[in-house]
Amino acid sequence: MNDRSTTHPSEHSQPNWHTLPAAEVETQLQSGPDGLADGEAARRIEQYGPNRLAPPKRRGVLMRLLMQFHNILLYVMLGAAVITAILGHWVDTGVLLAAVVINAIIGFIQEGKAEAALDAIRAMLSPHATVVRGGDRRQIDAAELVPGDRVLLVSGDRVPADLRLVKVKELRVEEAALTGESLPVEKGTDAVAADAPLGDRYGMAYSGTLVVFGQATGIVVATGAATELGKINQMLTGIQNLATPLLRQVDHFGRWLAFAVLAASAATFVLGTLWRGYPAADMFMMVVALAASAIPEGLPAIMTVTLALGVQRMAQRNAIIRRLPAVETLGSVTVICSDKTGTLTRNEMTVQRVVCADHVFDVSGVGYEPLGDCRLDDRIVDPEHYPALALAIRTGVLCNDAHLQQQAHQWRVMGDPTEGALLVLGGKVGFSQHVADGAWPRLDSIPFESQHRFMASYHQDSDGAPWIFVKGAPERILEMCGSQAGHAGDQPIDRDYWRRMATDTAAKGLRLLALACKRSAPANDQLTFADVEAGYTLLALVGIIDPPREEAIVAVDECHRAGIRVKMITGDHAETARAIGAQLAIGVGKPAVTGAELAMMDDAALRQVAIDVDVFARASPEHKLRLVQALQNDGQVVAMTGDGVNDAPALKRADVGVAMGMKGTEAAKEASDMVLADDNFATIASAVREGRAVYDNLKKFILFMLPTNGGEALVVIAAILFELTLPLTPAQVLWINMVTSSTLGLALAFEPAERGIMARRPRPPGEALLSGFFIWRVLMVSVLMMSGALGLFLWEMNSSGNVEAARTMAVNAVVMAEMFYLLNSRSILASVANRQGLTGNPYVLLAIAACIPLQLAFTHAPIMQSIFGSTDLSPLQWAQVACAGLLVFCVAELEKLVIRRSPLAARIAPTTVS
Ligand code: ATP
Repeated sequence: MNDRSTTHPSEHSQPNWHTLPAAEVETQLQSGPDGLADGEAARRIEQYGPNRLAPPKRRGVLMRLLMQFHNILLYVMLGAAVITAILGHWVDTGVLLAAVVINAIIGFIQEGKAEAALDAIRAMLSPHATVVRGGDRRQIDAAELVPGDRVLLVSGDRVPADLRLVKVKELRVEEAALTGESLPVEKGTDAVAADAPLGDRYGMAYSGTLVVFGQATGIVVATGAATELGKINQMLTGIQNLATPLLRQVDHFGRWLAFAVLAASAATFVLGTLWRGYPAADMFMMVVALAASAIPEGLPAIMTVTLALGVQRMAQRNAIIRRLPAVETLGSVTVICSDKTGTLTRNEMTVQRVVCADHVFDVSGVGYEPLGDCRLDDRIVDPEHYPALALAIRTGVLCNDAHLQQQAHQWRVMGDPTEGALLVLGGKVGFSQHVADGAWPRLDSIPFESQHRFMASYHQDSDGAPWIFVKGAPERILEMCGSQAGHAGDQPIDRDYWRRMATDTAAKGLRLLALACKRSAPANDQLTFADVEAGYTLLALVGIIDPPREEAIVAVDECHRAGIRVKMITGDHAETARAIGAQLAIGVGKPAVTGAELAMMDDAALRQVAIDVDVFARASPEHKLRLVQALQNDGQVVAMTGDGVNDAPALKRADVGVAMGMKGTEAAKEASDMVLADDNFATIASAVREGRAVYDNLKKFILFMLPTNGGEALVVIAAILFELTLPLTPAQVLWINMVTSSTLGLALAFEPAERGIMARRPRPPGEALLSGFFIWRVLMVSVLMMSGALGLFLWEMNSSGNVEAARTMAVNAVVMAEMFYLLNSRSILASVANRQGLTGNPYVLLAIAACIPLQLAFTHAPIMQSIFGSTDLSPLQWAQVACAGLLVFCVAELEKLVIRRSPLAARIAPTTVS
């Protein structure tokens, strides 16, 4: 937000950055290869303001409050208030108006709460940028960028500000956000004519566009509102509103119910006055009572809060929901397709084995501390005596983009852990990055991308001789090599030997890398793909251990018990994948299928394999997309993880696309429904658990709320049918609905997941909310509540004839029944007649405790008595009221018991344990 009075370079002089040569831009913005110094960056952020766009204007507080009144129900209540006023029923008018205001205020507060939950999540997803400052490369919040900053871009990044490109390597950018053109544009560093349209300014990368391929370095020329995106004042789509299929279903249901109730009320009014001959004024009051009792006012608002609280709880467990319907979909997931490296495994890599042409070396030491040695048949050896080994280790350090750092006695890898493991190996034998950089300056490189599975770098040794080093997946590197480094020099390559050794190493669960080199320079001193095709000498195969995460093993087991299949889709070697899979109990005893094999299959064969096989190796993003489609065609609900820019289509296609928060690209995050802040598989499992819990709570809340309305409506209907005195006045009905039901029901939003929640089968997608069982439960409890309230009302009328006392007992009977039924509602089928059941959710107890003084005040406070027509009750009468509540509790528990023991239970909550 450029809300301070800040100035921008493009505001006073407006240089056309795209027309200037890159070097000129650097000079004008006083930037260079080392980027800005920290002090200068701090000064500029003061001057230019943070690199943020103003969020879209929100409705003001007053408008938001007023919007709460824009609701058909409230219009009806306001209409009723006017009519009661005309009839001179001032108390009812007052209560109706108070109910309208309270309803609006509750809605307002709840909306605010839900918005705050989403805002917090938006903040967690704020984009980052890689910059060079003071000579160091670092990751910063994109909002901290200032003009002059030197920004590094790689594929998958969202361009964080407007940049003039100064260095480009095969950069392709998709500019649809700005130009509407969805085909990626190839970028360069050349200046273009001043009148070139945005889409033709090849030397610029504009904020909000997406890097789909390659790398680049650019100098920030505009930030925040001064960027081209800022000028068209368009925010990129972020998190949407709080609406999910279930909420829409409930909203729809609520509206339908409101109309039905209003129509029924109107019909009752006409029939009552014309047919039964009730006076119109009395009949009107009855009809208002009926409408007020039957419409579940608090339903949509509390459901929204339940969902928002669920989303908040998931965020605390590192699962950030980007699209809210995912919360519900998570509960029906039947298959989770997960990456391996870093998600199922720890991503703390250590080289354990180096296979050369003549010898196989073991490497000792654990973690990233460069302490350990190379051994041959258990003897420590000096790599300098084994030239192929020494050169291989050197290759691993030179052809490397990671950094090894010691911070407070802790060794850490900045960058790719696979590369970190090679740096540690170098450190163990005394060839550190520092030594390497001094003696072997790097002149160019092709960084690693999953798509091509290798990295290459071009260096000069101390004699000025050129070298190209490559490292990557063995199959890929083997294709490039014509010779191998033996003890006595280069020899013709023995491919069978290397393939055998690769399979043998991978079968131990080790990740494989092959290292090779060539003593020549690339054409034009620039590395291109043509320079890494042939003529290399294979130096060694490296076996890297990356153990499974302990928590992932537990989580996979939990998923299996929850009826969810877990499939591993990895770029790694098939044998490595199978061995790691076995440690995680994924695909045990089944073959692993490779991407190449998948590519040969037609759709029918693929569908079969997608279901039967659990480990897919050497798979690339297109394979992921085909697998999702195949699984979905089989009726599965699929969650799929991904991190790269090319994973975006599979993430979009999956029912729940899951992006990695740490190593994932912006492109993957934006295509996803959920982001894992810790990249951990166990987080997906806990999100599924939480998703199931949220859905459960929504169901529990509906099952709690509707019978209250049903019970009240039945009481009023019975009174009209049997020509009784009205047992509940409109004001009393509103008191129950607005004050007690909402207070009590909200407690269910805090209900923790039930113990057996992960022993159930996934919920069938599209399952109707109002199942036969639901309707039964609502009717049963409605009738129970009605019996208690009406029974006590008639009893009291018979014994004392005091209508105030009878009504007071009826109101208290409904509220008491609600308090007890709230306890029943903590679980749909499981018994709550135990300690955990009665005390497990403190909010439930708190809500009940809050209701008791309210009811005491309603009954005994003189002011309430004058408003609501209530009257004091004797201890005996209170005991009778308590019995009515207890009746509901006992019968509801009995009903659960019967259902649990009947075959129906398997239909209502199918478990995986037969
Ligand atoms: P997953 O999809 O489970 O995360 P992955 O991370 O192992 O799989 P990739 O990163 O695509 O998959 O790696 C595939 C292969 O590429 C690895 O098995 C390895 O041989 C090679 N490789 C991985 N990282 C590098 C790297 N930095 N440089 C060169 N080659 C690499």
